[in-house]
Amino acid sequence: MARPEDQAAVEVDPRWYLELIESAPDATVLIDPEGRIVLVNRQTERMFGYQREELLGAPIETLVPERLRRGHSVHRDGYFSEPKVREMGAGIELLGRRRDASEFPVEISLSPLRTERGLYATASIRDATDRRKANEKFRALLETAPDAMVIIDGSGSIMLVNAQAERLFGYQREALIGRPVEALIPERLRGHHAQHRSGYFAAPKVRGMGGAGLELSGRRKDGSEFPIEISLSPMETEQGLWVTAAIRDVTERKQFERKLADYAENLQRSNQELEQFAYVTSHDLSAPLRSVSGFSQLLKKRHGEALGEEGREYLDFIIRSAAHMEALIAGLLTLSRVGRKEAAFTTVDCDRLLGVVQAQLSAMVQERDALISHDPLPKLPGQEMELHQLFQNLVSNGLKFQPGSNPRVHVSAQREGDLWHFSVRDHGIGIDPQYLDRIFEIFQRLHGTDEYEGTGIGLALCRKIVQHHGGNIWAESHAGDGASFHFTLRAGA
Ligand code: ADP
Repeated sequence: MARPEDQAAVEVDPRWYLELIESAPDATVLIDPEGRIVLVNRQTERMFGYQREELLGAPIETLVPERLRRGHSVHRDGYFSEPKVREMGAGIELLGRRRDASEFPVEISLSPLRTERGLYATASIRDATDRRKANEKFRALLETAPDAMVIIDGSGSIMLVNAQAERLFGYQREALIGRPVEALIPERLRGHHAQHRSGYFAAPKVRGMGGAGLELSGRRKDGSEFPIEISLSPMETEQGLWVTAAIRDVTERKQFERKLADYAENLQRSNQELEQFAYVTSHDLSAPLRSVSGFSQLLKKRHGEALGEEGREYLDFIIRSAAHMEALIAGLLTLSRVGRKEAAFTTVDCDRLLGVVQAQLSAMVQERDALISHDPLPKLPGQEMELHQLFQNLVSNGLKFQPGSNPRVHVSAQREGDLWHFSVRDHGIGIDPQYLDRIFEIFQRLHGTDEYEGTGIGLALCRKIVQHHGGNIWAESHAGDGASFHFTLRAGA
């Protein structure tokens, strides 16, 4: 009984065999145990540039580059002492030599052939130039990848790595090739990994490795660990399914994320403290202030005559200052309340809201013959009180900073993707472009209170409200022709 590896060892006459090999796609050469060429097919003549007669009886080493001939004859003897079907030169790059002494890469499979004249060996030779070029291209491509690349076969052995992988894991390439990929993984995770690896080969597809929340770690040669991100893609090869792992060191990103999270947490805490402080102080300041203003008014009413003109003037000054301070405190209180958790979001009808604002400003509208107009405005998710305040502030600013009669303010809204883009446009004094950002800071005013009443809190409040709604606010100035205030709000489902 023939062993499986001997199955090609059929008993045939070499002459019959010639007919068979002429139809083979590869160059095929039959040699005797002394290494002499017994038969060649046409493909061999073409591939090596010889006439058949020149080859018959010649040593097979004729087809091997001179410098490799001695080694070849040793291997040949070895083959005849243990003949079986196999690929020649596993892992080494074989070369053929043409008649004109030029060399080219080849792949060779060997099989024994028993004939009545004894044991022969058949070599099927393929020109591997194209394949090797493709391989080289692939390797070059691998080197240009920004990530560390590690390619493994179905048994988890590393087949290929690029320079980035060498650097990342601190190994020389030669030390990695052929080793299980688990060498690059912390010991405590290796068992799991091997299991997952088999799972992947059973259902291979392009995907990131590790599910949500699973932190992946790599292990350097010196045993140190570092966080990584991996994407896997299957790769069909002649040696079966391989998997490419693109590996990225995310140490810096993780550090950055941690820093950012700490920073955000600190910021939130100090913001909360600040808001709490503003809330408490403004609340506590209002009561004494109400006394100051109440008693000053009482003083003026009951004893105004006795104080004389100068005294009454001072008193008016106190009363005005107290009123301004009351307005400031009320503004601060409102500002500190924006974004507090109890403020629930509902569907807000901006059209209706603007109607309310118009009604509230109707006295001023009448007095100054003003016009507040608007496009149809949308319904969107928001905190009603805050959005009311937003429209109210921007519209009343638009009127306030438009001296003279017939001030006009127009509110428009435009859908832009997931957002509504609102603008509030006036034709007033406008804003010097260098101050367009600064006016959203608290207490930043471009004019004295004797010119235009105000606290410098309104726009800071508007910005906080818009941010609380996940939008943006900014201003544009139209030289000599007013200002536009723009803000975006999420459109909702
Ligand atoms: P206030 O109106 O109480 O002064 P705001 O925070 O609302 O405070 O505005 C800050 C500053 O921005 C104002 O003092 C003014 O100088 C400028 N400003 C706001 N709105 C307008 C506008 N529509 N036209 C011109 N300047 C404006």
